[in-house]
Amino acid sequence: MTSSSAASSVFSALAPYGWDEAWADEFAPYEPEGLLPGRVIRVDRGQCDVVTADGVVRADTAFVTPHDPMRVVCTGDWVAVEPAGHRHPQYVRAYLPRRTAFVRSTSSERSEGQILAANIDHAIVAVSLAVELDLGRIERFLALAWESGAQPVVILTKADLVPDPVTLSHLVEDVETTAPGVAVLTVSATLGEGLDVLAAVVGGGTSVLLGQSGAGKSTLANALLGEEVMEVQAARDIDGKGRHTTTTRNLLVLPGGGVLIDTPGLRGVGLWDAGTGVGQVFSEIEALAERCRFHDCAHESEPGCAVLDAIDTGELAQRRLESYRKLLRENQRIVAKTDARLRAEIRKDWKRKGAEGRAAMDAKRGRWG
Ligand code: GDP
Ligand code: ZN
Repeated sequence: MTSSSAASSVFSALAPYGWDEAWADEFAPYEPEGLLPGRVIRVDRGQCDVVTADGVVRADTAFVTPHDPMRVVCTGDWVAVEPAGHRHPQYVRAYLPRRTAFVRSTSSERSEGQILAANIDHAIVAVSLAVELDLGRIERFLALAWESGAQPVVILTKADLVPDPVTLSHLVEDVETTAPGVAVLTVSATLGEGLDVLAAVVGGGTSVLLGQSGAGKSTLANALLGEEVMEVQAARDIDGKGRHTTTTRNLLVLPGGGVLIDTPGLRGVGLWDAGTGVGQVFSEIEALAERCRFHDCAHESEPGCAVLDAIDTGELAQRRLESYRKLLRENQRIVAKTDARLRAEIRKDWKRKGAEGRAAMDAKRGRWG
């Protein structure tokens, strides 16, 4: 095969998974080595499944599993993998620089970041209309979503349980006020309403579904996936030894276009070093703060505080300011713990090898890849 026809077969096979010109450029340095581009659809214990133009390859991740848990290969990564017949096992040789990444804190004792999914374009936050809206919880999910680099979208689910249109539009307004810069959609899986708009949103790029248990995520995923899900979940592929194994994919191509990632870890995410994300969730407060008389105004009782003025005039809800403070405090605690852990690790690494210390610093600054 000529290299241009090889490139076009890669495009036709991988475009449904999100392959584009920019990824092709990132991959170019690996091409002369005979490596294949592919996207990781599942990771487990030192191995991963990679979809390539030659089918699904089960590959070893030993080359790309350094000490730092933020730098391990995860579902959604684009990688350069060894082709079949190269050697056994086949290895993932590198992953391409991530555009976005979802990270969560693991046990609070150890305070380590764990990478959950990479290269996500849309973070869909599902919120049930069956229970009273918890705006603080929505803000928390949005902070995490913004922090990943993905564009958040809020989906208010079970709209059939709010039959009064006036009540429904008030609820939507409340959420819109809570989520500047974020589209707020309503859907009812029961009535089949709003699903076309959701399908259009997720149609381009890669999406994840976030939200509390019971918010309706599985129902939405099934609606988006249609009947194909069972078939895909049971898809057979061949492992390195030539045996047939059944693969559970955590990354699925949607029949209407787009890709959905659903990993067990993503279902219960916590806040992790989401300082930038918190700022984006409360962008109207940060904009007001720029007009405070004092540069370091804490918006407590300072004269000339634009934030407190906005609360007085009713432009800003007291609840929003309190929620902002709470998330900032929570995030600062996590960052402080992380810093202590990273400092200890860097000291250790200096004794061993200088390069690894720099990697930890990169991870701390949120640069992966
Ligand atoms: P998950 O935990 O976020 O995955 O939530 P599920 O998708 O399992 O949904 C939780 C419950 O809400 C289930 O009993 C669903 O049947 C119900 N549910 C989901 N979507 C709708 C909807 O549009 N309308 C109504 N009335 N119930 C829904
Ligand atoms: Zn102020």
